Amino acid sequence: MIRTIGIVGCGPRGLSAVESLCLEIAGRDGAPALSVHVFEATGTPGAGPVYDPEQSRQNWLNVADRQLDLPARKPVTVYGIAVPGFPGFRDHVGPDATQASPDTPDHYSTRALLGQYLHARFVSLADAFRQSDFLTIHHDTVIDVESVGSGLVIKTVAGVQLPVDELVLAAGHQPTEPDAQLAQWLRGVAGSDTHICFADPYPVEPICESVRRTANAGVALRGFGLSMIDVMKNLSEGLGGQFVRSSRRETALKYQASGCEPRLIVPFSLDGLPMAPKPLNKRIDDLYVPEEKDANSFTREVSDALAEVGQGRVHAQLIESMAGVAASVFSRLGDRAWPSTESASTIARWCADYLLDPDTPNDALILRSESTAKMIDDFVQMACGLAPVSLDYCLGQVWHHLQPSLYTLLSYAVQDADLMAELVALNERMKRYAFGPPVTSMERLLALHQAGILDLDLVQDPEISMSDSGWRLRHNGRSEQVGIMINTVLDSTAVSDVCSPLFKVMLNTGLVQPSHPDLGIRIQPDATAGEESSTDSAPIAILGRLAQGSLVGVDSIHACFDNRQDRWARGVLARAMQRRH
Ligand SMILES: Cc1cc2nc3c(=O)[nH]c(=O)nc-3n(C[C@H](O)[C@H](O)[C@H](O)COP(=O)(O)OP(=O)(O)OC[C@H]3O[C@@H](n4cnc5c(N)ncnc54)[C@H](O)[C@@H]3O)c2cc1C
Repeated sequence: MIRTIGIVGCGPRGLSAVESLCLEIAGRDGAPALSVHVFEATGTPGAGPVYDPEQSRQNWLNVADRQLDLPARKPVTVYGIAVPGFPGFRDHVGPDATQASPDTPDHYSTRALLGQYLHARFVSLADAFRQSDFLTIHHDTVIDVESVGSGLVIKTVAGVQLPVDELVLAAGHQPTEPDAQLAQWLRGVAGSDTHICFADPYPVEPICESVRRTANAGVALRGFGLSMIDVMKNLSEGLGGQFVRSSRRETALKYQASGCEPRLIVPFSLDGLPMAPKPLNKRIDDLYVPEEKDANSFTREVSDALAEVGQGRVHAQLIESMAGVAASVFSRLGDRAWPSTESASTIARWCADYLLDPDTPNDALILRSESTAKMIDDFVQMACGLAPVSLDYCLGQVWHHLQPSLYTLLSYAVQDADLMAELVALNERMKRYAFGPPVTSMERLLALHQAGILDLDLVQDPEISMSDSGWRLRHNGRSEQVGIMINTVLDSTAVSDVCSPLFKVMLNTGLVQPSHPDLGIRIQPDATAGEESSTDSAPIAILGRLAQGSLVGVDSIHACFDNRQDRWARGVLARAMQRRH
């Protein structure tokens, strides 16, 4: 009997899941017959909206080309059909000339370019199965899943009702309910032709169009992270402005206005703290790679704490071990770091204090500049190797290098949901350093500030009032009026807040359950939801960010092509074999 598998969502993870399934079938003699149905809401399977091949060229990847080592696909034969191999990303786009030496600044590709690659990779796979019943692609949105007998029925916007034996949700970024502030603004702008509120920063085209139509537009950006940078670039370079080299330093830029950009861009967030840029090039980045013995101790100490009954020591041990490695790297930096006569153990304690509470009063080695612009400038100089680095910058880069080990250690390993929520929150907090933008993005920010377009005086939690003509932002005696408000804070991974029809239904009917109010759905290492795979009900598996909590590290393109998809595919085949016997 043929077993039917539904895959909901075909961004990078959905693509990777189909590839893993092909590899698994090809590797088994007499593999059971499967029929796979892929549902994808966009017209570009493989890429999805995050890597939409047609999106603005101002939207860059946050991973340097030299680190974008997405693996190649091996050629395989699936039920007698030859599926061609596909090169890894770097082999596909060709070598990057700027990577000739470790001293040249890292190059960051556009998300559209990666999207072209991912979609082409999907098409080459789907083409192989054109004449077979193995793979069916539905360009359709799934809105409901119902449990019927021992199976499930997938229902779509277009009216498809497909019975499946099991299902995997690779639906990635899902919309969440707007918080009270945003909801109030959205209600307030209904029917207004003087002011407008965008609940989402993507796609950026309608935002640019709205600014283009409004003379002297004042724009506020809620959020001060990576999406804010995308919007800022689209509203400047994307509207015809130019960033040209400035003599201030090698990477510095000057903004030449086009006249189409907003009069004023006002970003703001709760803490107003800027992201720290990534090191400029490989040579500088390598300074933060922990020594092998330190990295091994980190792994051993955290896994020992995880192995203890009750896991009560995990949070403290992770902080202590991470702090120890960071202190060792900081000492190794010598005069490349802020001077300190303190011992390594005191520096480690300061790192630990900072991880426990970033507002810790002991800030002798923590960067706290008097203004946001100065803070960004200081970070840029550290990232370029032009100024000694602060302890927080060093700690953030060490965190970045230990992140893959951290994700492997913690995924599926933490039993208590509250503890996991605490660890996820700590990782999210460190993203300000560990997932920072390229230097050149922060130089653009500084250039727009110097041109008087980007206002950084209102960045820290301004008081905001809304009237018939827009929003007034006030902070420290400064006040500005804007007519366009853009929310650049991305939806959280808390599955209880998701408001898409599919997830609302599945949560309401209990088909999936959040493991914690701030986390995603609990899954097993083979990606199936719940405590243990049950033999009675049809398996539902989750791949990616909606399983945040069981998984740690869900928001990176590399994780889309790791062995989690292989483990899921192995489980699918194992269950199919079991049912056959
Ligand atoms: C704006 C943005 C920028 C990012 N930049 C980077 C970056 O530079 N580097 C990096 O490593 N990571 C980045 N990420 C993280 C990103 O999560 C991953 O890189 C990757 O996109 C995750 O892939 P995914 O397939 O799990 O989820 P997604 O990419 O979200 O794909 C999910 C797919 O499911 C489809 N779908 C959802 N619901 C349904 C439904 N009901 N029916 C049918 N189809 C559905 C969607 O259309 C989509 O194609 C970024 C994320 C965002 C939001």
